Amino acid sequence: MPELPEVEALTAFLSERLTGRVIARVQPVAISALKTYDPPVTALEGRTVGPVTRHGKFLDIEAGGLHLVVHLARAGWLRWKDSLPAEPPRPSPKNPLALRLRLEGEAGDGFDLTEAGTKKGLAVYVVKDPAEVPGVARLGPDPLDPDFTLDAFAALLRADRRRIKGVLRDQTVLAGVGNAYSDEVLHAARMSPYKLASGLDEEETARLYEALGGTLREAVECSHGLAAGELKAEKKLGLRVHGRTGLPCPVCGDTVREVSFADSSLQYCPTCQTGGKPLADRRMSRLLK
Ligand SMILES: [Zn+2]
Repeated sequence: MPELPEVEALTAFLSERLTGRVIARVQPVAISALKTYDPPVTALEGRTVGPVTRHGKFLDIEAGGLHLVVHLARAGWLRWKDSLPAEPPRPSPKNPLALRLRLEGEAGDGFDLTEAGTKKGLAVYVVKDPAEVPGVARLGPDPLDPDFTLDAFAALLRADRRRIKGVLRDQTVLAGVGNAYSDEVLHAARMSPYKLASGLDEEETARLYEALGGTLREAVECSHGLAAGELKAEKKLGLRVHGRTGLPCPVCGDTVREVSFADSSLQYCPTCQTGGKPLADRRMSRLLK
């Protein structure tokens, strides 16, 4: 799933290509992706694109007072096309195309929003104010916002008795960090994902704050200037523990381990993060019995 750094890079990529251009056509293909009906998507047609911004993992394309807000979810992606096919896209269960946006001009450039797989989560909203999107309205502070200080971070953690892994990826606590970067941030902070947020002392809080900003800024820098199509590969290259179960930790060489849950998993390095002890994994221990 694209997280803050990828969506940030996508925002920059689209700013260069969309701002100042006129939207010619918006064609929803997977109707389930469209979460609003008033104003209709066609209301975007003929409007000039203004700023392209980001709210957490949401992409926000402003056009003449309206906002096209997109959440890519797990398997959604945006594909830029210098020349879109002229014939209208046909909806079909096998077609990953969710929505097509074409700009005015002879080239017929624009983008396709696509979603692979059967679990459909990609969401598109057309609103007058991005805060009308429930997921945007609920977002916590953005970790790259200059106003997001160590004190602000400490205040968020102090009140939270959940495990730190879950807190970091909760969008209502912090905007933009998901399963991948929460693994990376905890690895950079040399901290167990099972630690309780409210139990962190001052030094640990400061270490985690540094790791959070550092990891995200580094990832944004790495993906900056990349074309939309290259962002996913770049994300994978930069990851140290996430999605690397069984591979050596690039810091200490220990084997990266995994804990599985019903709908997700986390990865960590025992030597770097848990004093060399593997974390309890109920599913794994059941399998080993
Ligand atoms: Zn390690």
